Amino acid sequence: MNYDCAIVGGGPAGLNAALVLGRARRSVALLDNSQPRNRVTHASHGFITRDGIQPDEFRRIAYKEVLRYPTVRHWPVEVTEIQRTDQGFLLFTSTGGRVQARKIILAAGFKEVLPDIEGVSDFYGKSLFNCPFCDGWELRDQPLVVISDSPDVIHKVKLLYNWSRDLVVCTNGSNSLTAIQRQQLISRGIRIVDTPVAAFFGREGLLERVYFTNGTHIERTAGFIAPALQPNARFSTVLSYQTEESGGIVTDEMGRTTAYGVYAAGDSAYVMPSQLIYAAASGSKAAIAVVADLTEEDWQV
Ligand SMILES: Cc1cc2nc3c(=O)[nH]c(=O)nc-3n(C[C@H](O)[C@H](O)[C@H](O)COP(=O)(O)OP(=O)(O)OC[C@H]3O[C@@H](n4cnc5c(N)ncnc54)[C@H](O)[C@@H]3O)c2cc1C
Repeated sequence: MNYDCAIVGGGPAGLNAALVLGRARRSVALLDNSQPRNRVTHASHGFITRDGIQPDEFRRIAYKEVLRYPTVRHWPVEVTEIQRTDQGFLLFTSTGGRVQARKIILAAGFKEVLPDIEGVSDFYGKSLFNCPFCDGWELRDQPLVVISDSPDVIHKVKLLYNWSRDLVVCTNGSNSLTAIQRQQLISRGIRIVDTPVAAFFGREGLLERVYFTNGTHIERTAGFIAPALQPNARFSTVLSYQTEESGGIVTDEMGRTTAYGVYAAGDSAYVMPSQLIYAAASGSKAAIAVVADLTEEDWQV
């Protein structure tokens, strides 16, 4: 069978794309290996009607809704390779399967690489987070640590001041703050530590202390770190779509990439702010573009 569209990735971006395509009576192969970026966390926030929902429950409801449409088929597999063919694309799966499709939507998201600090993965998603809009409310007024060696750290700290005034900023040995930025922070009672962070300590994912390489420590109950982001979709060499320096796939307003027949949505397309609701909206847009482009092709004489 040659599907109208294959979707690589079944997070909110891919799932919403499948929903729109299914409702447009287009045949869809939704290929997903169930490793969403937010799987480390216990609750998702900021999506109206779903505020505080467990990520697994979000996916359960979404798959139930999407698979009500008879033209949508779920493939619980990893896509390992994609080739361009005369009919569109041929996708190879980790289980040895092959899927043919006229169009593809890349919605495979990001892989997060956490800073190399002892214990970090025990706390990430439970008391250490990345996005204030996702988890700031739950951490309001708590003693927080903000760890980043990026020069952008100042912007994150200013933002976090909306949720808690009890902040310690750790530049993790980078000394990335300018003299003026240091003055801004100190004038608001925000402490700065430049010594590299050695380890996190706490119980059951709840942070209690942050240790530094010089043996000192601070007491903190939660905080924010800055993981590096790597795209999961690494098909640009074969499909020749353009990417940003960040790895995000370049698209137009409707999710069309620079490669004919290839669309991208969600974190894959570096849709910012990186949140479920934006990912879902961009999946919807990419699906609408696919339906529009297929319709034009089908009507050609
Ligand atoms: C700790 C944490 C907390 C967060 N909290 C919130 C929050 O409260 N609110 C909020 O709005 N956002 C939150 N986010 C951000 C949110 O998770 C992302 O914005 C969102 O998941 C992006 O959706 P997506 O569909 O682009 O990618 P994902 O949700 O990551 O989905 C991508 C899917 O593609 C699959 N995939 C990848 N490669 C392949 C392949 N080769 N073949 C097949 N399948 C593949 C993956 O397994 C995955 O299922 C949080 C993120 C983190 C890390």
